[in-house]
Amino acid sequence: LREKIRELELSFTQKYPPVKFLSEKDRKRILITGGAGFVGSHLTDKLMMDGHEVTVVDNFFTGRKRNVEHWIGHENFELINHDVVEPLYIEVDQIYHLASPASPPNYMYNPIKTLKTNTIGTLNMLGLAKRVGARLLLASTSEVYGDPEVHPQNEDYWGHVNPIGPRACYDEGKRVAETMCYAYMKQEGVEVRVARIFNTFGSRMHMNDGRVVSNFILQALQGEPLTVFLFLPSDLVNGLVSLMNNNISSPVNLGNPEEHTILEFAQLIKSLVVSRSHIQFLPEAQDDPQRRRPDIRKAKMLLGWEPVVPLEEGLNKTIQYFSRELEHQANNQYV
Ligand code: NAD
Ligand code: UDP
Repeated sequence: LREKIRELELSFTQKYPPVKFLSEKDRKRILITGGAGFVGSHLTDKLMMDGHEVTVVDNFFTGRKRNVEHWIGHENFELINHDVVEPLYIEVDQIYHLASPASPPNYMYNPIKTLKTNTIGTLNMLGLAKRVGARLLLASTSEVYGDPEVHPQNEDYWGHVNPIGPRACYDEGKRVAETMCYAYMKQEGVEVRVARIFNTFGSRMHMNDGRVVSNFILQALQGEPLTVFLFLPSDLVNGLVSLMNNNISSPVNLGNPEEHTILEFAQLIKSLVVSRSHIQFLPEAQDDPQRRRPDIRKAKMLLGWEPVVPLEEGLNKTIQYFSRELEHQANNQYV
């Protein structure tokens, strides 16, 4: 009853989204690096609403305060402006390590910084995990499979990555980050979880993110004969939390196995936006993966997880978010 009263009291303040009351023994201190970014801010919402104490660490390279501003001032929430390339000394129980630029234009903007973030940044977070005995979940990527020679990709596939190509700073950075996780697990007994995330889209995604959905929605329509698999932050966030709290330390693919060609996708977005844009075909970018599709049998079997949000519903929400953002930008230009 006391818990219910506390929950009611908190919901009366109205200032924040509703937060569950968790007893001290169930409440965890959780660090989310990159928590002001697209995925991190949705994860912040879930863990805050579940009643945990959340510390977001972000250097605001692609993330924004706006993504988490609705929690600022809440007693369970803390936002730290910090670059993970520098050591960090705090006390936590779990670390979701998401800090890294995620889209090609962003990670290619400063390849050395991308490498530092994924290598030194991950080393620092593993060092932190080791010191405080926290479990660390690494947000890895389908890019570790490179331009894959097998289709679909399961977790046993070693990948096909060009180590000196334009995407290498990210692909190889994440591959080293995975290597570091398992080295810290073997040598130091750090508990690690590795999620290999496939393309995700949704609200709070950076407008100039440069990935397929934002490009299409922003009328920069371009079709390529490659395929993508997209899923939504709520599905992804549930997968990440489930993986963190399970006992599977080997890598797990999290993605949507429903396959679409880029052209189909462009056409679908064009019809949902009711846009007059025409679809333009441009030369393909170097080392761009031709086709990717996650084999998610492992996540299904071991976590009981699979994406559930229908594609069109997610697209419509994202389109709404982007149009509001465009309006917001236009209004702010004249202030
Ligand atoms: P995002 O760019 O929105 O978020 C990344 C966050 O990390 C940003 O808030 C950014 O400011 C922060 N950051 C970057 N470098 C940092 C540093 N040195 N120190 C502290 N903070 C730093 O991208 P996202 O889509 O939310 O991706 C989150 C994670 O998930 C990334 O690690 C990415 O590699 C991984 N991932 C995402 C996708 C996807 O489709 N969104 C797919 C595969 C993997
Ligand atoms: N580190 C950190 N926070 C901590 C503990 C360590 O940022 O709470 C950093 C530390 O600066 C080091 C890295 O993590 O650069 C690796 O730490 P570890 O203890 O594994 O290695 P060592 O410091 O012994 O080389």
